[in-house]
Amino acid sequence: MSEFTVSDLQGLLRTIAERMSAERDHLCQLDGVIGDADHGIAMELGFTAAAKAAGELDPAATEPTGVLNTAAKAFLNAVGASSGPLYATAFMRAAAAVKGKVSLDYGDMCEIFAAMAKGIQDRGKAEVGEKTMVDAWAPAAAACARAGAEGLSLSECYAAALAAAEAGRDATRDMVASKGRSARLGDRSLGHVDPGAASATIVISSLRDFVRR
Ligand code: ADP
Ligand code: MG
Repeated sequence: MSEFTVSDLQGLLRTIAERMSAERDHLCQLDGVIGDADHGIAMELGFTAAAKAAGELDPAATEPTGVLNTAAKAFLNAVGASSGPLYATAFMRAAAAVKGKVSLDYGDMCEIFAAMAKGIQDRGKAEVGEKTMVDAWAPAAAACARAGAEGLSLSECYAAALAAAEAGRDATRDMVASKGRSARLGDRSLGHVDPGAASATIVISSLRDFVRR
């Protein structure tokens, strides 16, 4: 049984930032095909800023909600692209979901997942099938909740979420974009993976690794 602390969350944000840096060029390439080629830069900037701001907090004087709210603000300030407010809202909702907790347990980690996915949907108003990051986040959150209801372990819940996110990301290849910048391409967006769904899968994969240790 594990509890996740403020230091753990600080480490998680650093890990996501490193992964986004490693994937930056790939994400920019994906965005170059159906968008404006900046998605890798946006995600690297956003998570690097979030990790840096969160990393400056004193773990002894901060609760998890404070880390997540700090990450939200830093992400929003660092990113001008449309992914900025979407992830800032995700972090703000995650912060609200664990307000008052000193450390995070199984149930809190499930709620964080659901809150992030719902925040992104509320903010961007995209539905599944519109070729956005929601195509990874929404099925992932549903799979996580389903696995939780079946009484599976947290790492099994997050593994189920990752599998659903990967399937959702891959499914965006066969979708026509109807939200965001790539919507203007119409049918020409067909045949290409959505960059936001690809980066969402990286975030979710980092979360899975985080709870697995
Ligand atoms: P921009 O389009 O402003 O350059 P980014 O390149 O950072 O922003 O992000 C593009 C990604 O944002 C898309 O691939 C898509 O997944 C996601 N996105 C765009 N609009 C929405 C929306 N309304 N809801 C959810 N995700 C969206
Ligand atoms: Mg872009």
